[in-house]
Amino acid sequence: MTAVHSTRMLILGSGPAGLSAAIYGARAGMAPIVVQGLQPGGQLTITTDVENYPGFRDVIQGPWLMEEMQAQAEHVGAQMIWDTIVEVDLSERPFRLKGDGGTLYVADTLVIATGAQARWLGAPGEAELGGKGVSACATCDGFFYRGKKVAVIGGGNTAVEEALYLTNHSHDVTLIHRRDSLRAEKILQERLFKHHGINVLWNKEVVRFVGGSDAEGLIGIDLKDTKTGEVSRFDVDGGFVAIGHHPSTELFAGQIELDEGYIKVKPGTALTNVPGVFACGDVMDKVYRQAITAAGTGCMAALDAERFLQAQDFPVPEDAELGPIAAGESIAAE
Ligand code: FAD
Ligand code: NAP
Repeated sequence: MTAVHSTRMLILGSGPAGLSAAIYGARAGMAPIVVQGLQPGGQLTITTDVENYPGFRDVIQGPWLMEEMQAQAEHVGAQMIWDTIVEVDLSERPFRLKGDGGTLYVADTLVIATGAQARWLGAPGEAELGGKGVSACATCDGFFYRGKKVAVIGGGNTAVEEALYLTNHSHDVTLIHRRDSLRAEKILQERLFKHHGINVLWNKEVVRFVGGSDAEGLIGIDLKDTKTGEVSRFDVDGGFVAIGHHPSTELFAGQIELDEGYIKVKPGTALTNVPGVFACGDVMDKVYRQAITAAGTGCMAALDAERFLQAQDFPVPEDAELGPIAAGESIAAE
């Protein structure tokens, strides 16, 4: 028996983009289903302080913000499903997608909000020492390095925030960057440079992560000076890779137009080249990649989907309830 969910609007992803699309879609009477993926709440669930999401004078916490967005989406009638889509067929409408347990999703419109995932360096030792000293998430793993020596690799907002966060656990934090200037926002740079517990190593590239015994895990990182070419060992207990993210679009390759891996949308809209498929958030945004822009484009995707359905003679029923409403129809089939 295969479980089948049939809906007018299927949303892939439960970050700020997917949940904003869910709020607008539900309020438009489209009873959206949100497939949450492996990271319910998205990237903000792995950070702490969020200071630039409008509406909050005080610093708020990323996981809390995402819980509130999900609660709001559910309150207006969106249905959350904890599943991950592993197969997509966009060749005809309704679109058919499969979850990793075999559940089938049949959707009149599809909103892709699958966001982005951490990028890795690909240096020798990185994969082998994953979880044994090498990580891409300081807020998840920083606690294990209490009182130890840690390094963060990267020069963007994430790297600087991770370095600042790690000072909660370690008095010996080093930021390693391949150039001589950071691309992080000025306010974050100021905090970093003022912090006595953080050193910066400029113009250094990672050559390899070096492991000791099984019990020791990571013991050092070999670094190459980009100016002199000299390679030296940097002794360290924890290495946090924070070199950006890549869009989660592997599922759609060959079925939808991409631009440098990001889903291509018609400028000023959330329309992809496949009628009935819309994209929002980091998965289609190689420039801004902020929670607020993800939320804004999520709203656009839901409104574009609603207009698409109206134009396709799939009008929202006049008796569709607004506010808390029944979510997408779910049936069981052979
Ligand atoms: P994401 O948040 O990446 O969510 C993607 C969703 O898609 C997830 O729920 C995932 O489970 C789901 N998904 C993926 N694949 C599948 C699949 N196959 N099936 C179903 N679901 C799937 N921005 C700010 O504005 N302010 C900040 O302070 C800030 N701090 C940050 C700190 C860190 C450490 C990081 C990494 C990012 C930070 N950002 C911040 C950026 C911000 O988090 C992103 O711009 C935003 O989360 C993008 O939202 P999104 O909904 O597009 O995607
Ligand atoms: P990013 O801005 O793309 O920065 C990536 C950093 O990693 C850059 O400094 C880059 O170096 C470096 N890098 C990339 N590849 C590398 C490699 N192979 N070896 C060594 N270094 C490498 O990524 P991010 O910091 O993760 O930020 C992603 C997005 O999320 C951005 O839009 C950011 O604004 C947003 N974000 C916002 C906040 C916030 O608002 N507080 C917090 C976190 C993230 P170069 O500089 O030399 O290119």
